[in-house]
Amino acid sequence: MTAYRIEHDRPNCIGCAACAAIAPDFWKMDDKDGKSDIVDGVKKPDGQEERDIEEQDLAINKEAAESCPVNVIHLKDLKTGERII
Ligand code: SF4
Repeated sequence: MTAYRIEHDRPNCIGCAACAAIAPDFWKMDDKDGKSDIVDGVKKPDGQEERDIEEQDLAINKEAAESCPVNVIHLKDLKTGERII
């Protein structure tokens, strides 16, 4: 059962690659525009990106989110609907 949702405000990503360095199982860099992508993420028409993850994947993605210099990685608790970062 998925517990959290990664939300990536991709249009505002500056392509620093910190997330991909910290959590390569979940984040990769896109050669085309230099921004990061969520591995197996779903991209919306407005460029926002998301992926649901399990409880055990929270810590590494929280670390990635905390490393983001422009705070475009968010994590939502699907039980409460609230963002934890
Ligand atoms: S850490 Fe933030 S700005 Fe850097 S590539 Fe990842 S999402 Fe983009």
